[in-house]
Amino acid sequence: MKLIDNWKQAWKLKSVQVGAISAFFYALILFSEQFVQVWNIIPQDLKNYIPAQWQEYVGCFVGVAMILARLKKQPELYNVNQFVTVTAGHSNTDPGAVNGKLKESDFVVIIRNALAYYLREAGVTVKTDGIGLQNDPLSSAIKLIKGSNVALEIHMNAAINKAAVGIETISLPKDKKLAQDISKAVQKITGSRLRGDNGWIDQSKSARGKLAFVSNGGLILEVGFISNDDESMLINSKAWLIAKEISKILIEYEGKA
Ligand SMILES: [Zn+2]
Repeated sequence: MKLIDNWKQAWKLKSVQVGAISAFFYALILFSEQFVQVWNIIPQDLKNYIPAQWQEYVGCFVGVAMILARLKKQPELYNVNQFVTVTAGHSNTDPGAVNGKLKESDFVVIIRNALAYYLREAGVTVKTDGIGLQNDPLSSAIKLIKGSNVALEIHMNAAINKAAVGIETISLPKDKKLAQDISKAVQKITGSRLRGDNGWIDQSKSARGKLAFVSNGGLILEVGFISNDDESMLINSKAWLIAKEISKILIEYEGKA
């Protein structure tokens, strides 16, 4: 019995110690920035008074506080003036590509709206080139790129050859990985083929020449071919699922996953 009592006491002591250490680190995490600020304004003469046997510990403590302060600052950076721009290609006066009754500008507005919905639901700030059926022209869309973390414009491809299908995202080389991830997100739903380099088309190699939206730092997604009857029908019926899948990529990119 005595043994167990001792053991219990030891355990109590340990848990008290663990509690104290946790509280200490919790306080350090909370006040790391303030601590580093205070530490920085203490004059060196005063720091020299710290006894030699303590200096090592103080050095460690300052190091840990600095790392914590830096780690804490990062998530805050995301929230300062950061937003995602999602725009629909073409406009209310320019239908873009047409296949019978299907208009590109109608398709892309549905996907833009759904994408904006899913992003906002995840707490991402979103700017769009219109709400509802509104689809502002390219000049307005381009103005929304500046200051955005990522800007994505939705389009539908078209070809004279009715059999042409596939997904591509056009971007500057720095956004290659993101472009490929966006194309793959669409592929998850439509099952269509990835065009270009695994779904990525280099702006400089785009058949349409230099696209103003991409030159300004945005990405252009061609969800599929409106000229292909099967693909356009599939995209029409799965627009919300496609948008949801793309939103996952952008939410992760924003660090909000
Ligand atoms: Zn287009």
